[in-house]
Amino acid sequence: VNHYLQNIKTKAHLNAFVEVYEQSALAQADLVDQKLSEGKAGKLAGMVIGIKDVLCFAGHEANASSKILQGFESQFTTTAIQRLIDEDAIIIGRLNCDEFGMGSSNENTAHGKVLNALDESRVPGGSSGGSAVAVQANLCTASLGTDTGGSVRQPAAFTGVIGMKPTYSRISRWGLIAYASSFDTIGTFTKTVKDNALLLEIMAGHDEFDSTSSRKPVLPYSQLLHFDRKAKVAYLKETIESPSLQEEIKENTLSVLEKLKSEGHEVQEVNFPLLDYILPTYYILTTAEASSNLSRFDGVKYGYRTPNAHNLESMYKLSRSEGFGEEVKRRIMLGTFVLSASYYDAYFTKAQKVRRLIKDFTENLLNDFDYIIMPTTPSTAFKFGEHRDDPVAMYLEDLYTVQASVSGVPAISIPNGKDSKGMPIGLQVICNSFKEAELYAFSNYLS
Ligand code: GLN
Repeated sequence: VNHYLQNIKTKAHLNAFVEVYEQSALAQADLVDQKLSEGKAGKLAGMVIGIKDVLCFAGHEANASSKILQGFESQFTTTAIQRLIDEDAIIIGRLNCDEFGMGSSNENTAHGKVLNALDESRVPGGSSGGSAVAVQANLCTASLGTDTGGSVRQPAAFTGVIGMKPTYSRISRWGLIAYASSFDTIGTFTKTVKDNALLLEIMAGHDEFDSTSSRKPVLPYSQLLHFDRKAKVAYLKETIESPSLQEEIKENTLSVLEKLKSEGHEVQEVNFPLLDYILPTYYILTTAEASSNLSRFDGVKYGYRTPNAHNLESMYKLSRSEGFGEEVKRRIMLGTFVLSASYYDAYFTKAQKVRRLIKDFTENLLNDFDYIIMPTTPSTAFKFGEHRDDPVAMYLEDLYTVQASVSGVPAISIPNGKDSKGMPIGLQVICNSFKEAELYAFSNYLS
């Protein structure tokens, strides 16, 4: 803990941590020390973990990096975090992110942007940018993020670490401040596949506080990492041939596929005619869900209330206008629009139908193949400000990550070399729902 506290101080300018729980982390470390000497320590004794600012932790502030939650202190702890603590993990602090998880660069935050430790003029990715940089820059052993459409995998790719989004419902969402509830998934950042697998096996499993959490048995993923069979791998033609894909990422992805072939695995190209519909589907459905989820922030129940109100209505209006950032407001408006009576069928209902097509396509493909391989992102980490004023360009960053989110299947990003500027490239591996053991074993083989 002292080692990490020191690193956090030296690298404070990266702005990954919003708050460091110095006292409680040291106290917890003493407790774990004691347990270790008595031979009673849990599976995570010695793991020092940072948590994204959208996860509630009793007695601590949680802001979702938004002014509207300024001063909000949770009365309960996220189930996933509690399970880590029960195995003697040490929670060291709260990590910066895009406001309510909305963004791909960590520029949309009330806490100020997070810097990529490899090149400080570049973004760390988002929305879990702080969580990615915390692991990248050795500010903690591992961190928790959340992934609604790529927010764990994309920053993992941009910072050169491992980022995993498990199957939707594998980890309880209790305690996670909702962005889009039918997509939101807690995910993990680590330097090794083994650490990642260990965290999942502890956090996963049914939780009485989240009725959508799965009752499927949880496997000891960290002990199932051996991979010694021949895999059947698909890659989607349209993802590799997309004009927005950076050449070096394409080359590195193709060379992994070539290597797999030469090692005797079956690798096949498949057509994916739905690629163009993925982003519109994702952004219609998530903004719709967000507009509804974020209606609870009205200046009354949580956090910020405007000092400028003169009656009840202006209190609601001004608290929301002053409390939410620009991107969050854009999404609330988009979501409200697609849910409005005259446009509901044209946008929301249609997007639900397309979601079903994408999910069916993906699951069917994953019945025929063990894995889908594709790049995690179309480009490596870009410069600050590059997409700041162009929300559509920012949304295009999510081209490869949203398929797994729309379909609910697990996906992982592992490092796959660097581009000519020295920025890390991510390789994404996707497999069918609840096949996390297979996903980790294959990732272990690839890394
Ligand atoms: N960049 C995507 C978005 O802004 C993904 C966010 C996420 O996964 N939380 O919606």
